[in-house]
Amino acid sequence: MFELEKLVRKNVLNLKPYSSARDDFKGTASVYLDANENPYTALYHRYPDPHQNKLKQKISAIKKVPKKQIFLGNGSDEPIDLMIRAFCEPGIDNILIPQPTYGMYTVSAEINNVIIKTVSLTADFDLDVESIKNTWDRDTKLIFLCSPNNPSGNLLSFDRIIQILQEFKGVVIVDEAYIDFANLPGFIPMLNQYPNLVVLQTLSKAWGLAALRVGICFASSEIIAILNKIKPPYNISILSQQTAEEGLNNESVKNEWVIKIIAERKELERELQKIKLVKKIYPSDANFLLVKVTEAKDVYQKLVERGIIVRDRSNVILCENCLRITVGTEQENKNS
Ligand SMILES: *Cc1c(COP(=O)(O)O)cnc(C)c1O
Repeated sequence: MFELEKLVRKNVLNLKPYSSARDDFKGTASVYLDANENPYTALYHRYPDPHQNKLKQKISAIKKVPKKQIFLGNGSDEPIDLMIRAFCEPGIDNILIPQPTYGMYTVSAEINNVIIKTVSLTADFDLDVESIKNTWDRDTKLIFLCSPNNPSGNLLSFDRIIQILQEFKGVVIVDEAYIDFANLPGFIPMLNQYPNLVVLQTLSKAWGLAALRVGICFASSEIIAILNKIKPPYNISILSQQTAEEGLNNESVKNEWVIKIIAERKELERELQKIKLVKKIYPSDANFLLVKVTEAKDVYQKLVERGIIVRDRSNVILCENCLRITVGTEQENKNS
């Protein structure tokens, strides 16, 4: 049994959320004197829709998820932070993070003084379900899984994620920032079956809108209601809402980019294989490659000297001498 009310922090459960001017009056009127805005300016003088209804409508239609099961954040970083704050009592509760993975889960937990339990992924960067089960305890509230995983690039196996969803009594967050590159439906279709599932996606990668800072969180309407309760009232600016709406009108363009990027990834992989100091290229379902080289620090420095910046991951567990290389344009990949 998944009992959400028992998992959420008491202060959050009992919180009376801030009620904005736009929450108190929802209709349309000719004179707004309720939000202390400047009446003399034109374009940007009104606060934006705190619930981003139009943008959510678009996302709902594309992802086939009801609006009440969608939360939008200032990047995925915001729902990551809000999930930790909603569920974890600082200094008491803990979250579980299989490593290596995206660094923000750890940073967000540390900012909130929330204890982190780590387990290693397997040598091929998949989930070690046994060690995960041996590591969680009564105070483990969240497990963060990233699939396709950053920095390794691979999808975690579907069956192992399902097993964790079934057996873990807390909330499982599946971060699908790179799911567009994987040519799979991901975990959104599982939302109705698993009340403890949260899926994160973003407009920052395949959609090409990183500057807007729009992260998307899909979950049960009950979990979404909790996030809405604790978010800053106007967390997505009007410029981001409007520009994201326009971007989402071009799904076919996004799909073409994805096809191009995947083709380029394969080409990049073929070319890298020819280079002697490349020891291993890990299989990728994302828009980057994790590449093991002879001396990562040297190679990184040489690339910098040529004006090419990749990500040195050589200090990360299981990633000794590894560089993470984002797939660029055909031109960028060739010249590199
Ligand atoms: C890039 C990335 C994100 C995106 O974060 P935003 O704040 O939405 O830009 C989320 N998760 C992972 C694993 C990423 O690599």
